[in-house]
Amino acid sequence: MSSLFPVYARWDLSIEEGKGAWVKDSEGRQYLDFISGIAVCSLGHQYQPVKDAVAAQLEKVWHVSNLFGIRLQEEAARLITDHSFADAVFFCSSGAEANEAAIKLARKHTGKGRIATFAQSFHGRTFATMAATGQEKVRTGYGEMLPSFEYLPYNDLSALDGLTGSGYAAIMLEVVQGEGGVVPGTAAFLKKAEETCRRLGCLLIVDEVQTGIGRTGKLFAHEGLLQPDIVTSAKGLGNGFPAGAMLGKKELIPSFQPGSHGSTFGGNPLAMAAVKAVLETVLAPGFLENVKLAGSHFIQQLKAELGHLPIVKDIRGKGMMIGIECTGPVAELITELREKGLLVLPAGEKVIRLLPPINCTEEERGTALTIMKEVLGVHSKLNV
Ligand SMILES: *Cc1c(COP(=O)(O)O)cnc(C)c1O
Repeated sequence: MSSLFPVYARWDLSIEEGKGAWVKDSEGRQYLDFISGIAVCSLGHQYQPVKDAVAAQLEKVWHVSNLFGIRLQEEAARLITDHSFADAVFFCSSGAEANEAAIKLARKHTGKGRIATFAQSFHGRTFATMAATGQEKVRTGYGEMLPSFEYLPYNDLSALDGLTGSGYAAIMLEVVQGEGGVVPGTAAFLKKAEETCRRLGCLLIVDEVQTGIGRTGKLFAHEGLLQPDIVTSAKGLGNGFPAGAMLGKKELIPSFQPGSHGSTFGGNPLAMAAVKAVLETVLAPGFLENVKLAGSHFIQQLKAELGHLPIVKDIRGKGMMIGIECTGPVAELITELREKGLLVLPAGEKVIRLLPPINCTEEERGTALTIMKEVLGVHSKLNV
């Protein structure tokens, strides 16, 4: 029997090594990893510049308290504020913590409590972020939730029109719902959500824990679509080194003063060495443009090669965040893809989710496509 709490439905496969887009299991089998630790190792496993930065920092100092100045934290934050809407950054170590900080800041700044989120959203597993999550299964069994969260249907403009009153601290949303099935918000819906925030006098929190740091071909997926007040980041931020961040506009800075919030591990030198190397990579000239082009090319290829199959209902996504919605449950397909050497994730019951390294090669995408064509093709024949 395992000595772990069985909170994960683990696959019978344990990864011993990873390099780039490839991992090796304990039996020495190779897999093309289009999960990337759930959009975490977005630059691939053991990405050399991140490895070098962390290795160099290992020789200097690993951790110091936030009572001290931390130069790398300042530098990482400056890279973010120089390239985003944000004027200030708070570092933490996970997505839930980043969202937790966002919820606290929104409440403190507005002096109000209500927060509207969306059905099928995912914001984390802490008490506040679980309450923010629009999925019943995440909340059941935990008793009374933190009050004042309500869930609106996603991509529904009229539901936003229905929001009234002066009690709102924020509307919180994902630009592309990740766990909820790789569902991109429509431009009209996102704009309406922003307008609703202005109408209600509340803040717009964009949860970019999964969509941020180049995943969709932009540093943040909201760029060009939304003007947020707060954005949260984590997953891809440290390329495997645990790191999270909450970004905010300067009007919010007075609401987070010494004693307002904090984290022991948040922004420590080792994490910041990784974060800074990640940011320097994705912000290098042409990098994000390549992700965007390669992503849309890959989606076109998937549509061309798989779109006609009877079990495929829809292929959608942005950049390297792609969903293939099928007509039935995908669990078996995912197992077969794995047996053929391709690791992919489900999102909900019927969506195959692809989260390849954002710098994967055309050849690697081709290999994935060949395996998917084979497995989905055979299933399409079985199911007609
Ligand atoms: C994964 C995820 C989270 C939670 O992040 P953790 O690091 O697991 O706490 C929050 N929001 C979104 C959109 C996510 O995809």
